[in-house]
Amino acid sequence: MNADVVIIGCGPAGLQAGIHSSRKKADTVIIGKLQNSALYNAHVENYFGVPGKTDGSMLLKMGLEQALSFGCRHIDLNVIRAVAEGDAFWITVESGEEIRCRSIVIATGISRMKLGIPGEKELLGKGVSYCAECDCNFFRGLKVAIIGGESKAAVSAELMTRYASEVYWVSKDISADKMLVDRAVKEGVKIVSAVPAEIKGGKNVESLLLEDGREISVDGVFIELGGKSSSDLAMDLEILPEADDSIKIDNAGRTSVAGIFACGDVTGGPYQMAKAVGEGVVSGLNAADYAKGLK
Ligand SMILES: Cc1cc2nc3c(=O)[nH]c(=O)nc-3n(C[C@H](O)[C@H](O)[C@H](O)COP(=O)(O)OP(=O)(O)OC[C@H]3O[C@@H](n4cnc5c(N)ncnc54)[C@H](O)[C@@H]3O)c2cc1C
Repeated sequence: MNADVVIIGCGPAGLQAGIHSSRKKADTVIIGKLQNSALYNAHVENYFGVPGKTDGSMLLKMGLEQALSFGCRHIDLNVIRAVAEGDAFWITVESGEEIRCRSIVIATGISRMKLGIPGEKELLGKGVSYCAECDCNFFRGLKVAIIGGESKAAVSAELMTRYASEVYWVSKDISADKMLVDRAVKEGVKIVSAVPAEIKGGKNVESLLLEDGREISVDGVFIELGGKSSSDLAMDLEILPEADDSIKIDNAGRTSVAGIFACGDVTGGPYQMAKAVGEGVVSGLNAADYAKGLK
């Protein structure tokens, strides 16, 4: 598939960027899951012109309808890869489909995806990791568990088969694309249908306790919830994230790489819808102009 602008992220920032990009007549594709937006389970009462306590999921659904009505296309999947090639970019989604585009808007929000179980915080850096791609090498020949049901977990589980002696993929609810699941299983990943209850260990991780009482002996636990993180995507595209994982932009929404724009929570606080849509306008307009200018 070809597009002028690809927007990664389907929250208020990405949707607003899509609305403004498509109204500038740029062929625009928004990629991402509405229900993974921070706004989806929130209620808003401080947004200009929207009085009372308003359901975030309703705002998102209306925003998506609006973007589609202006000609945006929507792909309801996670992005697993993004690379630059000459003056274009290639974006790969979890089904394996590739989209070639002229400019990108990163609107992936921030990751609040913690498991919240005992041992997670205490053993962070002692076997608990949020990034298989970063830490895979430390687990050569060891046993690891990957936690999460989406594409990020599937890709990480498959990756870890190249390093670890045993890879358990723990999830009660796998929603990753079937192709990714099949690939992980073919490489030897063992799927454990369960809910994690506690990561146990002393100096280092020793085991993962499950809610059903089973205990898996592991040396590492990778918490891989949601899609590929914004910092992973940024690094794929040769943008160095800030120390707090945010992506620096200028007042035109430009990142350090020509053709790549960013908006919303991913660029830093305040983490508010008004700031997200404001930046969405700027990056959507400028991404459209950039893409058109290259034609
Ligand atoms: C409990 C709670 C209450 C809140 N209350 C308020 C409030 O009252 N007022 C207010 O203004 N703000 C509030 N907020 C903050 C507000 O929700 C955020 O500031 C806003 O949603 C940020 O928009 P965003 O588009 O930048 O990111 P998000 O809304 O988080 O959207 C990010 C999008 O990126 C997608 N994504 C991430 N990774 C990938 C990938 N690899 N591939 C494809 N897609 C990807 C996600 O699926 C999602 O669609 C609240 C937030 C929470 C959590």
